[in-house]
Amino acid sequence: MTGKTNPNSLSAFEELESNVRSYSRSFPVVFRKAAGAFLEDERGFEFIDFLSGAGVLNYGHNDPYMLGSAVQYWRSGGIIHGLDMATVAKRTFMEHFDALILRPRGLQYKFQFPGPTGANAVEAALKLARKLTGRKTVVSFTNGFHGVSLGALSVTGNRYYRDAAGVLPGGVVFMPYDGYYGAAWDTSEYLNKVVTDTSSGVDMPAAIILETVQGEGGINPASKAWLQSVERLCKKNGIVLIVDDIQAGCGRTGTFFSFEFADLSPDIVVLSKSLSGVGLPLSLLLLRPELDVWQPGEHNGTFRGNNLALITATAALQKFWTDGTLPLNVVETGRIMSERLEKIAERGTDSPLSVRGRGMMLGLDCGTGKLAEKIMHRAFEQGLVVERCGAEDQVIKLLPPLTIDRQTLHRGLNILDSAVHAGAEGD
Ligand SMILES: *Cc1c(COP(=O)(O)O)cnc(C)c1O
Repeated sequence: MTGKTNPNSLSAFEELESNVRSYSRSFPVVFRKAAGAFLEDERGFEFIDFLSGAGVLNYGHNDPYMLGSAVQYWRSGGIIHGLDMATVAKRTFMEHFDALILRPRGLQYKFQFPGPTGANAVEAALKLARKLTGRKTVVSFTNGFHGVSLGALSVTGNRYYRDAAGVLPGGVVFMPYDGYYGAAWDTSEYLNKVVTDTSSGVDMPAAIILETVQGEGGINPASKAWLQSVERLCKKNGIVLIVDDIQAGCGRTGTFFSFEFADLSPDIVVLSKSLSGVGLPLSLLLLRPELDVWQPGEHNGTFRGNNLALITATAALQKFWTDGTLPLNVVETGRIMSERLEKIAERGTDSPLSVRGRGMMLGLDCGTGKLAEKIMHRAFEQGLVVERCGAEDQVIKLLPPLTIDRQTLHRGLNILDSAVHAGAEGD
């Protein structure tokens, strides 16, 4: 069978894989290998990767140091699966994370390892907040994305995902995110008013869940003032502040946690995507110790704390988070990227383009989904993998590996530039 298959033929996927597949439609080739910022298809054609597994591969593909640590652990007979038994791999990870990430930032958290996906962690956070406060409602924000299992979906705004649920996802009130009505409107004032007004019809919530830069929702960064105002509201009213740092965390915005620039100290932080460093499934809740009201085993999951992923996650901390080189580089590379994107936007197309984001989490808003799709396809034909986000898929989302070298970065941006410019000439 395999001998007959033409390279890059998608026929097996069309015949055998569910319609639900999506990224293979945006990038219709068969990938076989990857290294750093590059993906290679079955013909041996190379693509620059500005998608990075939707934020899973902040350190690029197949980092030899992290993979080496996994291979060595495997060869030595280390525990691969241990439910949530105490293992050397988990202890080493927690000690490193505490010493390298939490303590230098003055943060004190307990670790909860839920199932391996981001949605698993969001579900656990919402459940804990409701259990802790005895309140039923959770506040989420317009354009928020927190996963698609039912609990996580209930706090996700996008109608396409919500319509697929088949049941009414309940217990959530959506409030306007920062900038929802334009820059002049402080939506945190409205939030404050309705949450504290006993006659607004909005119940006092158990939790407020937010992304500091909305990823799937269109690369929408919240301001420091807005985030601090939401945190004040939470502190005053015993509301659990949950920061979903699944996509914006692990260095993406220029600091390990995306909320550091706003001096927040969230009650719960949710991490996943780039946490394991190499793309192995791993997610984590960080809980303020006073919030840890779980009974043993009350929330569980078979694949809690994937031991092999804990090994590579520890290696990621050792390689990238023992000094300040990576975050400095992210800030500088992000500045270069946004300058170039501003220039690309200025050159313009029929509809005006705009740039936004923080650090190396940037978006080029094309105004319409149709234009963004054209640009994405043109870029792909020229060897750049880049995806869209936002309510109408109208934003080109740029998430290159944080470790990308300048030359490759500029090559990728050159491709994007020409894909945008080809759009201006129409077709
Ligand atoms: C990807 C993502 C999730 C969901 O993670 P899954 O592993 O797909 O369940 C949740 N929140 C944010 C912000 C994400 O980007």
